[in-house]
Amino acid sequence: MQAPSVGGVRLPKGSGETIRLPRGASLTDFAEKINANPASLVQVLFHLGEMVTATASVADEVLELLGNEMNYNVQVVSPEEEDRELLDSFDISFGDEGDEEDWAVRPPVVTIMGHVDHGKTRLLDTIRKANVREGEAGGITQHIGAYQVQTELEGIERPITFIDTPGHEAFTAMRARGAKSTDIAVIVVAADDGVMPQTVEAINHAQAADVPIVVAVNKIDVEGANPSKIRQQLTEYNLVAEEYGGDTMFVDISAKQGTNIDQLLEAILLTADAALDLRANPNMEAQGVTIEGHLDRGRGPVATVLVQRGTLRVGDSLVAGDASGRVRRMVDEHGEDVTEALPSRPVQVIGLTSVPGAGDTFLVVDEDRVARQIADRRRARERNAELASRRKRVSLEDLDAALKETSTLNLIIKGDNSGTVEALEDALMKLDVGEDVDLRVIHRGVGGITEGDINLAIADNVIVMGFNVRAEGKATELANREGVEIRYYSVIYQAIEEIEQALKGMLKPEYEEVELGRAEVREVFKSSKFGTIAGCLVMNGEIRRNARGRLLRDSVVIAENLPISSLRRFKDDVVEVREGFECGLTLGTYSDIKVDDVIETFEMREKPRA
Ligand code: GDP
Repeated sequence: MQAPSVGGVRLPKGSGETIRLPRGASLTDFAEKINANPASLVQVLFHLGEMVTATASVADEVLELLGNEMNYNVQVVSPEEEDRELLDSFDISFGDEGDEEDWAVRPPVVTIMGHVDHGKTRLLDTIRKANVREGEAGGITQHIGAYQVQTELEGIERPITFIDTPGHEAFTAMRARGAKSTDIAVIVVAADDGVMPQTVEAINHAQAADVPIVVAVNKIDVEGANPSKIRQQLTEYNLVAEEYGGDTMFVDISAKQGTNIDQLLEAILLTADAALDLRANPNMEAQGVTIEGHLDRGRGPVATVLVQRGTLRVGDSLVAGDASGRVRRMVDEHGEDVTEALPSRPVQVIGLTSVPGAGDTFLVVDEDRVARQIADRRRARERNAELASRRKRVSLEDLDAALKETSTLNLIIKGDNSGTVEALEDALMKLDVGEDVDLRVIHRGVGGITEGDINLAIADNVIVMGFNVRAEGKATELANREGVEIRYYSVIYQAIEEIEQALKGMLKPEYEEVELGRAEVREVFKSSKFGTIAGCLVMNGEIRRNARGRLLRDSVVIAENLPISSLRRFKDDVVEVREGFECGLTLGTYSDIKVDDVIETFEMREKPRA
């Protein structure tokens, strides 16, 4: 059988075998797998209406299309799968707990969620302050994004870990990345306010992630607070208080006055004991999740990590997301150095060479070299995927749609800590200036603006935003040379306002219909020369030649978009006829005109933007 061909190009021919390619692979990568010449794949794609170079990243659909054409079954491997394979190649498996006999009880990890102003921050503060250790002045002194407190339950000291990042953005981000790090959610509801939209959202998040809930009914010190109403309201969301025969623990508290905080901690432990079997293996190399990361002037990249299994020690080689390094120091929430961290313990790690993102997983590996290789591979992969997603394919069928396509403003956001970057991205994504313009964040990260960022931005409509960070090295020079716009900010709302303005600037003009005049048909003539002529009286406004009109009969639109093609007063052609005057007109070739019909004329005017 002859090899198939497209446009005269001989195709490398498969027999249906499966080819696995990473997202963002190039034609060269593809060619390598099937032992073909990259140039021939470029040619084939060209005949299929795609122009790509051999080394450029290609979108998933294009890889599949090309595969189909050549009788290969192309599987584009997802980043998660690929990451698993990457770790496999180093004989590491993330999430494997090891032998069950090694498992030991670990403390619960708690996230506090709820509607804005219901007291989440205050509650975290109160718990933190209530936990002053013997002989210590201030209790927990450092905000590292999480802390652990000691609680006594039935005479036994038991720690609880609280995630201490503002809002529940961190929770959402982590869940989205599949790193389930929260064991229990405390939902705070203000007794003087009741169940609000973000309360419901928080409940939905927790329930979707299968995380048991403890309800803290807060602000019971406020006059008019009605804790039983909250219990009532929450039954609608399947949260039935124990005292009403359900299995959710409700604790009435005042975060402000420190009332019933011990009871809340106890409820958390009891709920954990009843619903969960929290154990982890401390006898392995540490793995877990990054809670927060930022760039510290003196100490360099600093990341708070939550150990989920294993024991993290000073001197360990670590890879977190695409950051790597050796743990030089570990500091706890008391600002004290620690040498090891067991499961469920949050610690701040110093020694990474860059800043990981909130929600990135981390793991300890045997050697620095391995950590670096994994980080490098992840970074390269991410970059490829970003490049691929940016390159939109336009085929002939799509061309029409592409021409009408909405304009997109692409952004790269760099900032001094992952929380701000995420908050800024969230706020920007909520901007809504209509359907015609789109905002896309093509890359985000912590740290200065690098040449890599600028390279990514060399395309239309990319703005690089630096929040409390500046361009490093030759990035400014490159940006100037390539015409990439960098904007610096230190105030979030200002950043949001400017981007909103930029988006509005991209809107295409919008038109609205403005009525010009109405005329009533008094007589209808048929003329062999002009067709059907309507003898009209202009009722209001004016009728202009060449304006567009519509015909109404008994207030029903009979015909739309008719041209006023000729307009006469008596025997003279005129340009316009005003209110109160009679005229004769034709509506192009349209002939179904009757006495008493109404002709409305209008024009389209550009509408000013709000
Ligand atoms: P968040 O938005 O959920 O983090 O809410 P905050 O912790 O910032 O609290 C919002 C406001 O409610 C602040 O002014 C707190 O001082 C106040 N607040 C929080 N808890 C209590 C409480 O138990 N009683 C009273 N009276 N006020 C509280």
